[in-house]
Amino acid sequence: MKLHIIGAGGPRPGPTRYGCSCILDLGSECIMLDCGPGTTYKMTRMDLSPTQVNTLFISHHHTDHNVDFPCFALLRFDLDNNDLEPLAVYGPAPTQSFVDRLVGPNGAFAPDVVSRQEHPVAQTNYLKRGGSLPRPDTKAQGHDVEPGHTIETDTWRATAVQVPHLEPYLTSLAYRIDTSKGSILYLGDAGICPELMELAKGVDTLVTGILGWNTREGTEPDAHHDVSADIPDVVDVATKAGIPRVVGIHGSPGTEHAARLLREGYCGVGYDGKVVCPNELTSIDL
Ligand SMILES: [Zn+2]
Repeated sequence: MKLHIIGAGGPRPGPTRYGCSCILDLGSECIMLDCGPGTTYKMTRMDLSPTQVNTLFISHHHTDHNVDFPCFALLRFDLDNNDLEPLAVYGPAPTQSFVDRLVGPNGAFAPDVVSRQEHPVAQTNYLKRGGSLPRPDTKAQGHDVEPGHTIETDTWRATAVQVPHLEPYLTSLAYRIDTSKGSILYLGDAGICPELMELAKGVDTLVTGILGWNTREGTEPDAHHDVSADIPDVVDVATKAGIPRVVGIHGSPGTEHAARLLREGYCGVGYDGKVVCPNELTSIDL
């Protein structure tokens, strides 16, 4: 099992990082976690195709986690030779209307979809690429996920809990994904809460942003505290739940720096497990 790091940054582009997006690669299928800026282009640079992804989990509807979705879904549609499964998009409300209003039959991008479906030149090119008519639509199906909800297939089970971020303006979810090859807890960008601590028990890898690390002194909370996981939050989750590995994304410090900060921890409690904060366009084995 691999984790492809597509976007390891935050909402503002940096020299090497921008936005939040990962792909959990089970070998037989890929599960996308968030779809931040540039995801589709960066996937191509990693030799990954939208056609490999049938499932997307969106943690919350901030643009650094969702803004590339139409680009991703429309390229997937354009590459679909009438042989792809539907694209299931899970996330907190309003994920269903988010999907429908962008790439649904009456969505903002409907003229693009219909022109590629119906124009003779587009059809000719499509047939040359091995497609068969009638050309399907985007096959994107949005699903509003309630906290506590579980989604299960033959190969994985995903469980969602609500986590603190920027309520009441938007809802944020963390996802635990269990597979026969291991499990991850994807926190994205949020604070911690008792429900998350419970869900974290026994998970193999925590994938999380680590914010506030460069401004926080001692145990004084900074502006990020309670809305994004900081060093004490990550130490709490990883040590209390016994998680052997932490993967830092979304503006986390570099690996060595993060490992040192987590080891030092706070109030005499530190994390001694494996820590990695990968660069974008890299993949790690889980
Ligand atoms: Zn956010």
